[in-house]
Amino acid sequence: MYKINDNYQKLPGSYLFSTIGKKVGAYSAAHPERRIIRLGIGDVTLPLAPAIIEALHGAVDEMGKAETFRGYAPDLGYDFLRETIAEHDYRARGCDIGADEIFVSDGAKCDSGNIQEIFSLDNRIAVCDPVYPVYVDSNVMAGRAGEYDPASQVWSNVIYMPCTAENDFVPELPKETPDLIYLCFPNNPTGAAVSRSKLQEWVDYAMKVGAVILYDAAYEAYIRSEDVPHSIYECQGAQSCAIELRSFSKNAGFTGLRLGFAVVPKGLKCGEVSLHDMWARRHGTKYNGAPYIVQRAGEAVYSEAGRAQLAEQIAYYRKNADYIFNGLRDAGYRVSGGVDSPYVWLKVPEGMTSWEFFDCLLERANVVGTPGSGFGPSGEGYFRLTAFGSYENTVEAVDRIRALQI
Ligand SMILES: *Cc1c(COP(=O)(O)O)cnc(C)c1O
Repeated sequence: MYKINDNYQKLPGSYLFSTIGKKVGAYSAAHPERRIIRLGIGDVTLPLAPAIIEALHGAVDEMGKAETFRGYAPDLGYDFLRETIAEHDYRARGCDIGADEIFVSDGAKCDSGNIQEIFSLDNRIAVCDPVYPVYVDSNVMAGRAGEYDPASQVWSNVIYMPCTAENDFVPELPKETPDLIYLCFPNNPTGAAVSRSKLQEWVDYAMKVGAVILYDAAYEAYIRSEDVPHSIYECQGAQSCAIELRSFSKNAGFTGLRLGFAVVPKGLKCGEVSLHDMWARRHGTKYNGAPYIVQRAGEAVYSEAGRAQLAEQIAYYRKNADYIFNGLRDAGYRVSGGVDSPYVWLKVPEGMTSWEFFDCLLERANVVGTPGSGFGPSGEGYFRLTAFGSYENTVEAVDRIRALQI
């Protein structure tokens, strides 16, 4: 008789965005005349830029001709894309990362869920709290998280690093020693960024205790502040203790196309064993790369036209973030994030929970956001608004929230 992987049963049933979907569905069924504005889900809305569409068309045509047809893509990605990434994202920033240290993938969600496979089940993970749910959930499914306590929303074998207003939403070094440390900056959901010197402290700490940092830089394109690093490899020694994950989703609108990459430096070793070789083996066996057509589209992101067009898209979302941030701050809310990220993190009014504030905005302003408690225990009392909507809707949503005067 077969058995299932029991760890899947441990995951709490109600997924944040399905609960939101149900609440919004019920409300709009009861009030079909109301126009609901969504500033909740972290998906982009602007269409793919012309340079990317052109690259897609070109690659599709190549696939239709015998001379230029491509079959299986190389396991680790096409050289043209890996070279382009190494040049623009790393060498141009003074980071010593080579094309052969880049692993092209189908996105940072997949990589951040899969990367734990190369580590022992005995490792203890540390995560920011609140946090993008994939890091914890993938470790739960693998059997690394221990038991869940619904009352406190805490897993027994996970080290939580609270990110609150007191520490500017950047965690302190943990008191218990972790083996794997998930960091994401600029952060989802808080929108917080980390300075180069602060991140250096984390790299130094990881080297000292023998931990690996899994660094999610999916929002790198939104960085505006001078002292915020675009890559963890801007820190001394990171090549020997950090894996970086990147995505084309939030900077170039590839949430539907699917493209990302992991950087696993050759100097990252556990004793004699190279993690680079392990991840290459994993890619060779359980391929999670991307189609030729999509990799050509990714290359176009770095072309001169692509860069100019995407800078405009980022500027558009930034304008939304600024409107949300300034509008709600002026209305008396405590807001953070939004400067180096497309997320504004809002303290809900005194005496309300995150979900009560969610219901209040849905019913009284017809605006949908995301309750902070859905991202971890320290998210209670906070609320996330995203800058990925249209400018017109963003302005109207913020004005409606201001008019509530709560
Ligand atoms: C959106 C997001 C990603 C991107 O995931 P893709 O799979 O590349 O679309 C990765 N990490 C975080 C924290 C995100 O919010």
